[in-house]
Amino acid sequence: MKMIIALTIICLPLKSLTVTSPFGYRIHPLTGKLEYHNGVDLRAKYDTVYAVLNGVVRSICCNSTFGTAINLQHGEITTIYGHLSRSLVSAQDSVSTGQAIAISGASGRVTGAHLHFGVRYQNRYLNPLNFLYQILKTTDHEQKF
Ligand SMILES: [Zn+2]
Repeated sequence: MKMIIALTIICLPLKSLTVTSPFGYRIHPLTGKLEYHNGVDLRAKYDTVYAVLNGVVRSICCNSTFGTAINLQHGEITTIYGHLSRSLVSAQDSVSTGQAIAISGASGRVTGAHLHFGVRYQNRYLNPLNFLYQILKTTDHEQKF
């Protein structure tokens, strides 16, 4: 897949990244069934969550799976931050890379507090870690010249 990312400044969604559940098919910790996990779960208690890229808050929604979740729009890319305890932004707000947008938590269907982080490009979910890595690589590359 070809993807051109014009934005080269990126921030990690949390101060430190520890993956507790990877992207893709997995046995769900609550249901015990094979499920498609469309993001990664990152270790977090009630920590500050940062916008990974410049963007606009497309929605802050509450649902039974991801609890309080923020969707940020960055052109054709959407980043999703779920199981939040509190949002620090409002729908339609413009956010910049590294801006604190929420406090993580344990809302929705969870076994404990963590951050669910997802990346969607058009209508498909990408592996969020590969996505971050690709941008970091691009940024690196550009800084060399
Ligand atoms: Zn998750």
